[in-house]
Amino acid sequence: RRRKNVLRMSDGAVMDAETVVEEGEKYEFQAEVGRVMDIIINSLYSNRDVFLRELVSNAADACDKKRFLSITAASEDAASATFDKPSIKIKADKDAMTITIEDSGVGMTKQELINNLGKIAQSGTKKFVEALGDGSADVNLIGQFGVGFYSAYLVADKVEVVTKSMQDDSKQYRWTSDASSEYTIAEDTSDPIEGSGTRLILHMKDDALEYLEASKLEELLQHYSEFVEFPISMWKEKT
Ligand code: ADP
Ligand code: MG
Repeated sequence: RRRKNVLRMSDGAVMDAETVVEEGEKYEFQAEVGRVMDIIINSLYSNRDVFLRELVSNAADACDKKRFLSITAASEDAASATFDKPSIKIKADKDAMTITIEDSGVGMTKQELINNLGKIAQSGTKKFVEALGDGSADVNLIGQFGVGFYSAYLVADKVEVVTKSMQDDSKQYRWTSDASSEYTIAEDTSDPIEGSGTRLILHMKDDALEYLEASKLEELLQHYSEFVEFPISMWKEKT
């Protein structure tokens, strides 16, 4: 989205500025991403619950990577490895109509956002599209083909990924996409992530508001959270 901007100069003068991109730099998804998103959205509609499993497992993977890297780096100082044990937090906000899944895992650099969320790493996309496209929708295929992230668009019409990598001197970035052919990346200074990690904000579709009920989320989490070795906590809605 572009808009006209007006600059107010220090001497009080007001002048037209160039059209600016409000949300940051724009990028195009790799073509396969669009195909995979379409297939997921169209063929897994009746299995939408799967989004939570996929996103929590990504959060757990990120925690796992951080733990591995911390143990390696902190071998002389073993205490620090246990000091900040990664964790996962989930919050439903009915007023904002968002679900937030936050992990204190490895996070992503700007380049990793582009490589990991804008492109599909594995080949086999064609097989995936065939497998899901012929109607024999198997939810487990999403995880197997390494495209679980896009299952967020089963329930959300806009996804924001706020992330800070554990690499030294990393900045915090905000990746945003409404599942069109583009996404944006902007530097982000709001609500800083402590240390490193990723905060995924799902702006829920009007027909997916049932997931904003804490009881619904808890029920879904119970099914598979026993396989996640990091603590998962739910922020309760303030009443
Ligand atoms: P897979 O998990 O099988 O690799 P996904 O589509 O679920 O495929 O995720 C794609 C990639 O995006 C992951 O491999 C990872 O590099 C990155 N990613 C997704 N979620 C997170 C997260 N919470 N923290 C860090 N990286 C993430
Ligand atoms: Mg995954």
